[in-house]
Amino acid sequence: MAFETREQVLEKILSQEKPKCPHCKEEMKIWETPPINFADGLGWGTPFLYICFNDDCPLYRQGWDHMKETYAQTASYRCMCYPDSKQFQLIPVFSPMGAKGQIIDDQILLEQEMLKEAIKKGFSILADCYVSKDGVAVLNLLLDASQPMRVRVKAAEMIGDIGEIEAIEPLKNIRSGNDKLDNEIEKSVSKIHKRFFTRECPFCAEIIKRRAKICKHCGAEVAGN
Ligand SMILES: [Zn+2]
Ligand SMILES: [Zn+2]
Repeated sequence: MAFETREQVLEKILSQEKPKCPHCKEEMKIWETPPINFADGLGWGTPFLYICFNDDCPLYRQGWDHMKETYAQTASYRCMCYPDSKQFQLIPVFSPMGAKGQIIDDQILLEQEMLKEAIKKGFSILADCYVSKDGVAVLNLLLDASQPMRVRVKAAEMIGDIGEIEAIEPLKNIRSGNDKLDNEIEKSVSKIHKRFFTRECPFCAEIIKRRAKICKHCGAEVAGN
């Protein structure tokens, strides 16, 4: 799986519907995992989980008795779910407040608002760039990893229509780790080649005329290649 930053995972989670706890049917909450897993030091493998924090959840209520009888421990469980797998599992908690410290729904909402604003702003800049055919500004937005993914994907889509030949090299150097973005970039590179009647030399990767017979960069015979 491609490496994803916390922001990318968050953006993805925010676009999904929150799962409902299978034990109480309440909507689960987004929970930020602690940086280090106190149990095994291996970490959670994800920056966010869904957890049912409903104190009336039957699983959680019955958990206290069960843990006391079975392990003589004052503890219970809550239902948790990994954002990608949609598989429900149990997480132990040792007090009614257990793990609640990292509920970040309020913070998430704030980040969501900020993200929405950033997307709105990015889209409006892109719209202006499109009208003025400012491919360089579009490329700059696309290269800016701090921009929301949706803005970067839109910029990648646009650059195919208004980008110059010079945009191809920086486009090909982008390693975003996001399949959707990489896909749009690839499509746009082909579009630019098409608009300028060019292609890539199969031997040296330099840009040449589509109908060239000899590559002007490496001298290789490219007719029919
Ligand atoms: Zn529940
Ligand atoms: Zn060549």
